[in-house]
Amino acid sequence: MGWSPIEKSFKNWRVKPNLQNYEETRRIFSWAEIDAELKATIEGLNIADIAVDRHAKSDRADHIALRFLRKNWDVQDFTYRDLALQTNQFANVLKTLGVGKGDRVFALTGRIPSLYIAALGTLKNGSVICPLFSAFGPEPIYQRMNRGDAKVLVTTTALYQQKVVALRDRLPKLQHILLADSADHLEDGIWSLPKLMQAATSEFEIVSTQPEDMALLHFTSGTTGMPKGAIHVHKAVYAHYMTAKYVLDLHPDDIFWCTADPGWVTGTSYGIIAPLTHGVTSIIDEAEFDADRWYRILETQKVTVWYTAPTAIRRLMRLDIDPKAEYDLSHLRLVHSVGEPLNPEAVVWGQEKLGLPIHDNWWQTETGGIMIANYATMQIRPGSMGRPIPGVEAAIVRRHEDGTIEQIDQPGIDGDLALKPDFPSIFRGYLHDEERYRKCFVGDWYITGDLAMRDRDGYFWFMGREDDIIKTSGHMVSPFEVESALMEHPAVAEAGVIGKPNPMIGELVKAFVALKPGREPSEALKLELLGFARQKLGAAVAPKELEFQESLPKTRSGKIMRRLLKARELGLPEGDLSTLETN
Ligand code: ATP
Ligand code: MG
Repeated sequence: MGWSPIEKSFKNWRVKPNLQNYEETRRIFSWAEIDAELKATIEGLNIADIAVDRHAKSDRADHIALRFLRKNWDVQDFTYRDLALQTNQFANVLKTLGVGKGDRVFALTGRIPSLYIAALGTLKNGSVICPLFSAFGPEPIYQRMNRGDAKVLVTTTALYQQKVVALRDRLPKLQHILLADSADHLEDGIWSLPKLMQAATSEFEIVSTQPEDMALLHFTSGTTGMPKGAIHVHKAVYAHYMTAKYVLDLHPDDIFWCTADPGWVTGTSYGIIAPLTHGVTSIIDEAEFDADRWYRILETQKVTVWYTAPTAIRRLMRLDIDPKAEYDLSHLRLVHSVGEPLNPEAVVWGQEKLGLPIHDNWWQTETGGIMIANYATMQIRPGSMGRPIPGVEAAIVRRHEDGTIEQIDQPGIDGDLALKPDFPSIFRGYLHDEERYRKCFVGDWYITGDLAMRDRDGYFWFMGREDDIIKTSGHMVSPFEVESALMEHPAVAEAGVIGKPNPMIGELVKAFVALKPGREPSEALKLELLGFARQKLGAAVAPKELEFQESLPKTRSGKIMRRLLKARELGLPEGDLSTLETN
């Protein structure tokens, strides 16, 4: 088949994209086709079989599956064969300890090999994996492990001593702690993982799991309140595979880098599972964000497909670095972003500075995988999250007081973003919160909690979270729209916008702004920014107040916490801060 005009116009293609034509693929797509492509090598369905053993039993066995970059730049590679054997060993460790199907295994480590081996080994054993951010303090760790009925915790000696020791009495169900870096067992129940691994055989028959068996427990980011524990099943792997094929556009020789930590769902679905389902090499960097380091990783590892987040892109944009001139990014073919609205400014920056536009996509912890995306082969609309993936139906709906729901078919009208909950990776519950789970479903739809609109061509545009939308003088104002306008000003690095209750106009639009290095807050700059926004947005929508901040409060997954800006502004209780980034 030849190349379509849109493919030709996409100057950076070096391989033929998986998605030939969006409309056509949507029309003929079926999940049965994915089922046929994913030939399980066991009875039933198991994520780790699809991600690891399937390749270890094929001619890809010696291909590098995971490449770890340690903080000091040391490299540690695991082929698919290595990964199969070591995850078998880990599964045997669990089995020997009496950990069985459905039991919860938590992980609290940095991005080290043990975390990835534990996650996949846990799945082989039919147990449930729940990775946590290692930067969490003791209380968030306790809250999640307690709610998640943790039976096993994989961690490091330092993290155990700093954060977990004090919690042990409060976690009576926690039976085993596996220390990834300890040469010796500390006491009964506090084991050296290397020692247990050494004693375990590398042969293991994957516990037969069914598509609907629970596999992953993932807590949401806590942007809007107390994090919820979303339950995912083995069948979610269909969506991981499918989106990695069509949206990320992974091909066998790709070098893929997802910058997210597995403590956030992106770091599990796309930092662990999805790339492995395609047998590609996935880069995992142990270190935290550093612009020079990141560009060097793209260069030296010859990354071809890169999946990152707006917060990182904004940090790169802030700096006076010309990446294309200073680094060799010639291998990079596609850049994707998720987690927050991607300001149009960032898409343009990508085109100018990286030589590639940035493809925004939208999904949630609850959806387990990408749902709406600017595909590789589609014309990107800067500021839009793109179009629903094949196999997923998305719509704008309006809920009525009598409990009924109406689908809004006309373009350009905002409402609740809803999905037909019939795709494989939709969450199967909020752990211990049945009531809240049920409330997410109205009629035939799953209500996402985000507000959006669809344009004439079927692209979806994010308006804001239900809780964040500002009502001012009879207008509905999307904080994202105001933030994006402010971001266009050369002095602005980040912006967060809230509505402040006001007796005259309902809510007053207030902006918080962090400046780029070298720019100082001043009354003159404030007036300039207010004027700039007014000119872009019109007086009704533009902020009336503006305050400078050193940096804006964010979750560990990099999302601006508008609810915290608002609580602080109004002197209200700050609410759950377990996911607030503190360093
Ligand atoms: P919580 O549910 O605890 O408040 P959270 O919603 O931030 O936290 P996640 O599941 O990590 O937890 O994030 C999903 C949300 O992130 C989406 O519902 C949406 O609000 C936002 N989001 C993700 N990707 C995009 C995107 N491309 N554009 C706009 N918003 C996005
Ligand atoms: Mg959410």
